[in-house]
Amino acid sequence: MMDLLIPDKTHDESRQGEALMLKAEAAKNNGRKLYIESYGCAMNFSDSEIVASILAERGFETTSDYSVADVIFINTCSIRENAEQRVRNRLKEFTVAKVKNPGLVVGVLGCMAERLKSKFLEEEKLVDVVVGPDAYRDLPNLIDQVDDGQKAVNVLLSREETYADISPVRLNSNGINAFVSIMRGCDNMCSFCVVPFTRGRERSRDPLSIVAECRDLFDRGYREVTLLGQNVDSYKYSTTGEEVITTNFANLLEMVALINPDLRVRFSTSHPKDITDDVLYTINKYDNICNYIHLPVQSGNSRILDLMNRTYDREWYINRIDAIRSIIPDCAISTDVITGFCSETDDEHKDTVSMMDYVKYDFAYMFKYSERPGTLAAKRYADDIPEEVKQKRLTEIVAKQQEYSFYRMQARIGRVERVLIEGFSKKSDKDYCGRSDQNAMVIFPVGENYKPGQYVNVLIERSTTATLIGKVVD
Ligand code: SAM
Ligand code: SF4
Repeated sequence: MMDLLIPDKTHDESRQGEALMLKAEAAKNNGRKLYIESYGCAMNFSDSEIVASILAERGFETTSDYSVADVIFINTCSIRENAEQRVRNRLKEFTVAKVKNPGLVVGVLGCMAERLKSKFLEEEKLVDVVVGPDAYRDLPNLIDQVDDGQKAVNVLLSREETYADISPVRLNSNGINAFVSIMRGCDNMCSFCVVPFTRGRERSRDPLSIVAECRDLFDRGYREVTLLGQNVDSYKYSTTGEEVITTNFANLLEMVALINPDLRVRFSTSHPKDITDDVLYTINKYDNICNYIHLPVQSGNSRILDLMNRTYDREWYINRIDAIRSIIPDCAISTDVITGFCSETDDEHKDTVSMMDYVKYDFAYMFKYSERPGTLAAKRYADDIPEEVKQKRLTEIVAKQQEYSFYRMQARIGRVERVLIEGFSKKSDKDYCGRSDQNAMVIFPVGENYKPGQYVNVLIERSTTATLIGKVVD
């Protein structure tokens, strides 16, 4: 069962398990090949680019074919049980490669590595290296240890590591959109969530290094950056020295927006408790900060939100939605929802449905609650909603979201959207695809006067639930 409804760039179902490739000229070839496959959120895909960068410095070239690799890394996700199962199944497939090439190094990176630590080595005999998200600088040493015949583990979490000085190589890039990590970890302790345990304490990256990375991307032809963090609204960086300057998320957005009006700025994820009017006014002030906010609600019921330790209630969330609607006219809003959280009643589930009716989200990621070992919810509450009830509630909200996605798409018909062209559409090389300011995918015929990386105005003529279809009008 796929628990994701609408593909979005921050957790793109179509990219799960994708092997990432670095162009050969960036590597200082040592004759060894790295194969790296990534699962989970955009942060993991972005981390894989940091890993490839660190290993490219040591002469590793990347390959998209694991059967010719000397090192196989799998960058894992722990967010739900099925994400971990997927990784376990994938590891089984690498066994054949290891039998053929006993010198092959197999490494598990990311959240699952952090959660299971050295237990991974006991449970999966194939695995040689286990490395948590804050230990990637140690990878060359860890590979050396394995070359010397040992197993290697580094799952130390850090309060400082932001990899700010590492300029990530862009893997599988279209040369137009890039993810830029602005912070790491999370201090929120939502009771269902494993992230604070697998990614450690929240820390923000130096804004000057973020702006420098975005400017460099723009100079190399990129036209859209997505600033990434588990809770971007709590971004905060203070300089040391005599005059202390503190940069918050609104300031950072502005700094990135000012690089060039042709550089689109997106961000993910916002937290309802932290998103300020200041951020909303900044979005509204700059045309190149996109009118699109991902604001996970999780539940529409205040008792469940309290059990989830989300630190806001239904009224607070509605107030934030109203603020978005009044400060940013025409802003798309998407969300995350969990069905069947511990002790959720039918009436409490209905509050989630009525929240969807209130907001009429443009997109939603919808999940059944999956208990994660070690989390507050696993320790405190029984996972007592039967699977079939979780599924029934999920099916209901998925159907509801389909209706609202279609409603939002239909509302764009007859309007002209500014679209950044990303490439050919998946279905035909006679059509281009790109995203509107509000993050909707737009399809339109290829033309001689425009190409990927350029902006065009598209008159929307029709839509599906997930795509706008039209023609270029300038
Ligand atoms: N930091 C972001 C936030 O607070 O919204 C996103 C974190 S997580 C990577 C993405 C989504 O996964 C969450 O918003 C939540 O809906 C879902 N999720 C997290 N833990 C879950 C669990 N134990 N069971 C089901 N869904 C879960
Ligand atoms: Fe997890 Fe909550 Fe942090 Fe998001 S804000 S990563 S859901 S603990």
